[in-house]
Amino acid sequence: MIVEMKAGASSGEIDGVVQRAESLGFQSQLNLGTEKTVVAILGGNTGFLSTDIFAVLPGVERVTRIMKPYKLASRDFKMEDSVVCLNGIEIGGKRVVVMAGPCAVETEEQLMVVAKAVKESGACVLRGGAFKPRTSPFSFQGLGGIGLELLAQAKARYNLPVITEVLDPRDVNIVSQHADIIQVGSRNMQNFALLTAIGKDKSPVVLKRGFSCTVTEWLTAADYLLAEGNSHVILCERGIRTFEDSIRFSLDISSIPVIKKASHLPVIVDPSHAAGHYSLVPAIAKAAVAAGADGLLIEVHPNPKEALVDGLQSLTPSDFARLMEELKLVAKSVGRYI
Ligand code: PEP
Ligand code: MN
Repeated sequence: MIVEMKAGASSGEIDGVVQRAESLGFQSQLNLGTEKTVVAILGGNTGFLSTDIFAVLPGVERVTRIMKPYKLASRDFKMEDSVVCLNGIEIGGKRVVVMAGPCAVETEEQLMVVAKAVKESGACVLRGGAFKPRTSPFSFQGLGGIGLELLAQAKARYNLPVITEVLDPRDVNIVSQHADIIQVGSRNMQNFALLTAIGKDKSPVVLKRGFSCTVTEWLTAADYLLAEGNSHVILCERGIRTFEDSIRFSLDISSIPVIKKASHLPVIVDPSHAAGHYSLVPAIAKAAVAAGADGLLIEVHPNPKEALVDGLQSLTPSDFARLMEELKLVAKSVGRYI
């Protein structure tokens, strides 16, 4: 249930709504908007609650029920676009934020070469996996803590914020100490213990879409992060399983405008994991920017043939540089910049 306060409602009046919710055994979350405050009444079964209980309170403008399963991620709760800020970079603003780097951190040399190259081409966040979610337990699992150290070194050397994935709630703390953005991979979109731990940590987080999950399930998973008070949530479309087998995953391009309508959260696109092949990455990346994506997450490797993970879908630094020039034109044509 959403309680919209009148413009200029006093803090005492807002508090009155919160107190009433708590006295009835519900939780509440505030969206202190620029024009008015919205209080979400959450938990328990608000379906049995009459809207009048809140409508009669002083300072209340309107009370409505959110019929969708996701609440805090919904535009009903927050009308204005959310912008996630890190190191002066805004994700969800006019700039299309490009995050690029290797699938996995492999060696110091590999990471530094890529970090330098992607920075020179205009990427503003470095990606690199230290903990890799591999389908087989016998595949390279990532360098773990050593990988995190290398990412921190690359960040310091090239003044590039870093994004890296966390797989285990017990690693959230160490990952957030080394990285600027925590990535929740597709396979963990509905790992609720992990989401709760990251929600409590409050670091900026990229929540990748589960490849078999609907947009509704994805936004409802985002509520786990938001419910813990972490408002720095960025969504990432990375392709879904369909009957189509000419591509690794089908990028659901329509999820971008669908999310923009349903939610206030920024949404970026990972064309690499959808494509599965480097030759398909540029077209998908450009389509994503044209469709309104707030950023891109792209795999780049200095020598894709030698990559330990996802070499086939990784761009070389020179391919990435060329793509960035093309992306600038697409961004400009939709009133954005890179
Ligand atoms: C990745 O970004 O390296 C990754 C494993 O992606 P996804 O979770 O989308 O498969
Ligand atoms: Mn990968």
